Amino acid sequence: MYTYARPIARLIEELGRLPGIGPKTAQRLAFHVVSGSVERARSLAQAIIEAKENTVYCSVCCNITDVDPCRVCTAPDRDPSILCVVEQPRDVVAVERTHEFKGRYHVLHGAISPMEGIGPSQLRIKELLSRCKDGQVKEIVIATDPDPEGEATALYLARLLKPLGIRITRMAHGMPVGGDLEYVDEVTLARALEGRREL
Ligand SMILES: [Zn+2]
Repeated sequence: MYTYARPIARLIEELGRLPGIGPKTAQRLAFHVVSGSVERARSLAQAIIEAKENTVYCSVCCNITDVDPCRVCTAPDRDPSILCVVEQPRDVVAVERTHEFKGRYHVLHGAISPMEGIGPSQLRIKELLSRCKDGQVKEIVIATDPDPEGEATALYLARLLKPLGIRITRMAHGMPVGGDLEYVDEVTLARALEGRREL
């Protein structure tokens, strides 16, 4: 029986470990790489290594960054009294695209999900709590996804943070239920931010 040459099989295997890449796509990508130039392949490999080696989690907001603290956390023109809490680094980019939010962020790296065995201790909630203790933060906009996990996380955070005297709001208006924040268009997201409600 014919099988792929070992280096190709390995590449297919590695690509197949990426999220959203099934066996068929992994094969297609592997053959695309192999049939292209050595320079293209090297450039791809280097981009992967550099992205991994030259980034860390921001020690303040937990976003992925190449400088610590990140540029958003140190920007003098951003309001430190309002934080937008999101699930993933890509959600920060989504909210930034609206040009409506001038505060800072906190990235949880997930949402509470009993089904997947993800509890509050696996998220960057401890870091968020310690940011809220010096009294500088006045409002937290919870912008977790409008799905059951995102809602559960929002309620958990509201219960945790309200006793600290912080205004807790939830971005919801106009957001598609069950949607993923990063796929919401800028106009809808901007309106959702504007029409945020108290939790
Ligand atoms: Zn930061």
